[in-house]
Amino acid sequence: MAAYSRSTKVLAHVLRCSLQWYGRRSIVSLSSLPETHQMLHKTCRDFAENELKPLAAKFDREHLYPKEQIRKMGELGLMAVDVPENLGGSGLDYLAYSIAMEEISRGCASTGVIMSVNNSLYLGPILKFGTEKQKETFIPPFAAGEQIGCFALSEPGNGSDAGAASTVARPSDDGWTLSGTKSWITNGYEAEASVVFATTDTSKKHKGISAFIVPKSATGLSLGKKEDKLGIRGSSTCSLIFEDCSIPKDNLLGEPGLGFKIAMMSLDAGRIGIASQALGIAQAALDCAVEYASKRNAFGSPILKLQTIQTKIANMALQIESARLLTWRAAALKDSGKPFSKEAAMAKLAASEAATYSAHQCIQVLGGMGYVTDMPAERHYRDARITEIYEGTSEIQRLVIASNIIKEYGYS
Ligand SMILES: Cc1cc2nc3c(=O)[nH]c(=O)nc-3n(C[C@H](O)[C@H](O)[C@H](O)COP(=O)(O)OP(=O)(O)OC[C@H]3O[C@@H](n4cnc5c(N)ncnc54)[C@H](O)[C@@H]3O)c2cc1C
Repeated sequence: MAAYSRSTKVLAHVLRCSLQWYGRRSIVSLSSLPETHQMLHKTCRDFAENELKPLAAKFDREHLYPKEQIRKMGELGLMAVDVPENLGGSGLDYLAYSIAMEEISRGCASTGVIMSVNNSLYLGPILKFGTEKQKETFIPPFAAGEQIGCFALSEPGNGSDAGAASTVARPSDDGWTLSGTKSWITNGYEAEASVVFATTDTSKKHKGISAFIVPKSATGLSLGKKEDKLGIRGSSTCSLIFEDCSIPKDNLLGEPGLGFKIAMMSLDAGRIGIASQALGIAQAALDCAVEYASKRNAFGSPILKLQTIQTKIANMALQIESARLLTWRAAALKDSGKPFSKEAAMAKLAASEAATYSAHQCIQVLGGMGYVTDMPAERHYRDARITEIYEGTSEIQRLVIASNIIKEYGYS
């Protein structure tokens, strides 16, 4: 008995330690998070319920960019969650960003990705690597929701193999001249500025890539056609075409040759955002399935009482909650300044699989009603699919995880 109570105490201690991270925070549940995060959660949930959920089907059907909603999100501080207040952001941490992203995406996945790209992929690298002048010019209007930014890494010839970029930047008398095409760029149509990756020294392969901030007004920059997508249709995706595009010398972001590192660091953080977007889609699918099952009768009672339906609900909830803990852990590690590449990849992989699984199961629970646009289930199914592709496919996430594990075992 004494041994039992001692081991129980040890177990309780280990549990307490493992459920805590920096400071006195715990990631067990929303109610154990700091008050700021709980308030943010409520604000985002209310906003999503009132301003996004009722319009999400229209944004999807009509390929409409949610301009007014993005402006209001800027006012709420959601377009620059971890940007310091002196630059117009909310000055919160990445856990707060993850919580906000999930709630916004639960209301509308298209709005979620617009928010994610602006926060993680556009503002993130400028905040970390930008000069004071670049921050003053290229952050405040983008934090306010008046303008949005984008991130241009992928090209027609390479996506996963980002180091093989063929867009080049040559020094000119007063700046840089960019030539090449970037493809699949989220927010491309509306973005007033983009973080663009181009090779400045072809002899150095990926170490010759540099990052640049390119305003939409730059001479020689034009947009390709707007892609007609399976899901997240309220967000634009298009090519950015650079034909002897001139930008000032000062628009180099970080040092020459640092571009690939900037891109990979931005994507590590971005994966926490996409994991959170996937969680929002998964949670919306679960909400939809439970509500429908409580009202739909078959064989004399609501289908919610059928164990086969309950098994689906249990499996969806299990995947969502596991993925949420992984996502919050990755965010917490980032917030504490610790390495988080592996954890962000795990979070994105688990959350995107939870989203596609839950959306698939949601359609099954709704039967025929799951297959038509009267209900949101088919939209969740279409929206979920992209989370397994962008910011690194699931195959690439597994490579990132495996290479980190192999290193931990000392075999690299
Ligand atoms: C809607 C949408 C929005 C996007 N937004 C942006 C954006 O804002 N900015 C941006 O820069 N890019 C963006 N992308 C591009 C996106 O990041 C790429 O599509 C993605 O990284 C995959 O690259 P790819 O399409 O070239 O596929 P490929 O790299 O050609 O891959 C094809 C298949 O091969 C597999 N594969 C490739 N290499 C390996 C490997 N080493 N091991 C195992 N399997 C492998 C992949 O997993 C995939 O299944 C977007 C894409 C879409 C569809």
